[in-house]
Amino acid sequence: MKFSDIGLSKDICKALADKGYETPTPVQEQAIPIILKGKDIIGSAQTGTGKTAAFALPVIHLLKKHKRTRCLVLTPTRELAIQIQEQFVAYSKFTNLQVALIYGGVGYGAQRKALKDKADVVVGTPGRLLDHIFQGTLKLDEIEILILDEVDRMLDMGFIEDVQKIVNKCPKDRQTLLFSATVPDVVKRMAKWAQRDPEEVVIGQRVSAADTVDHSIYPVSSIQKFDLLIQFLEQWDYQSVLIFTRTRVGADRIARWAKQIGHNVQTMHSDMPQRMRQKALADFKSGATEILIATDIASRGLDIAGVSHVLNYDVPQHAEDYVHRIGRTGRANSTGEAFTLMGSDEVADVHRIERYIGQEIPRRKLEGFPYRYEPNLGKTQRRKKRNR
Ligand code: AMP
Repeated sequence: MKFSDIGLSKDICKALADKGYETPTPVQEQAIPIILKGKDIIGSAQTGTGKTAAFALPVIHLLKKHKRTRCLVLTPTRELAIQIQEQFVAYSKFTNLQVALIYGGVGYGAQRKALKDKADVVVGTPGRLLDHIFQGTLKLDEIEILILDEVDRMLDMGFIEDVQKIVNKCPKDRQTLLFSATVPDVVKRMAKWAQRDPEEVVIGQRVSAADTVDHSIYPVSSIQKFDLLIQFLEQWDYQSVLIFTRTRVGADRIARWAKQIGHNVQTMHSDMPQRMRQKALADFKSGATEILIATDIASRGLDIAGVSHVLNYDVPQHAEDYVHRIGRTGRANSTGEAFTLMGSDEVADVHRIERYIGQEIPRRKLEGFPYRYEPNLGKTQRRKKRNR
């Protein structure tokens, strides 16, 4: 199937050709026709499936040309907001539609101007959007399409009341598109409240590790984690490595050590000013930095193309974050590798992840690494013994 077969305008198809997209992804094939018909949708798709374009393309088609603010996109983090805005801008480059980006931590001036010019699409995070609504700089009474993106994450982050307030400000006869990586009961309740008879689009399993990622666990004592990381970096033929840590302090510490021995590293976490976070991300995307060390702020939805290796320095506490973290590699049909270093105090966390994804993650050891304690690679055997 081609994009033109789904009924998207020539301007959009031209922009897609410029981006090098040839065919719609499965979520796009399913979602775009439903959205073009004006129906509500509840979509659960794995990250990296082309979800953003699945809503941005039909919205651009429906809005056609610049008039006034008719589409609002709510998303949990600033990084995601930036990414969505960038995609809207790229796909609408042969139209005169305007897209505004609204998030906190930066000045109000440019945002006020974009809203005064009645940007057709407003993409933003809940807190700052509410500020603008209360200040009267953003009016939602002409919203035709409301998009709630990464709803599970927004609820996890405690935005439920803000989201409800914003939804209540939109006209009732709007079209509402809801996307969520997982659809627990709380998201279903939100959908029931905010939507009208939505069609469901589910791509692949709701919970699964990306098929294109080879992921494995490396048991190692905590005091040797950094040495093992360095050994990996020496052995890999990498272009870009994303390292996840549990804590901000941990991210800074590893970055400091890695810099000391000459690695090209930056960190990204929520203690840093927005400007620095954006710079770290931009440098990593452009290849200026080869290694980015991040807390889970970067694991969800962030579109970082071409990450060759993901390394979990710590096992994520939330099983769901594992799927998101390793989903940063192996995107858009390229294969990637994900490595998780597991200290002896993290075994239970790994078991939880394995139960969540419904598969055992292979244990491996790095040949030639001077392990202080021989790593235990035989999880299954150990369990059988216990059951006897
Ligand atoms: P998303 O799931 O929205 O984060 O998108 C993942 C990546 O796939 C982004 O880099 C998109 O630009 C890219 N992408 C989206 N749709 C297509 C497509 N039809 N063909 C190729 N790449 C795409």
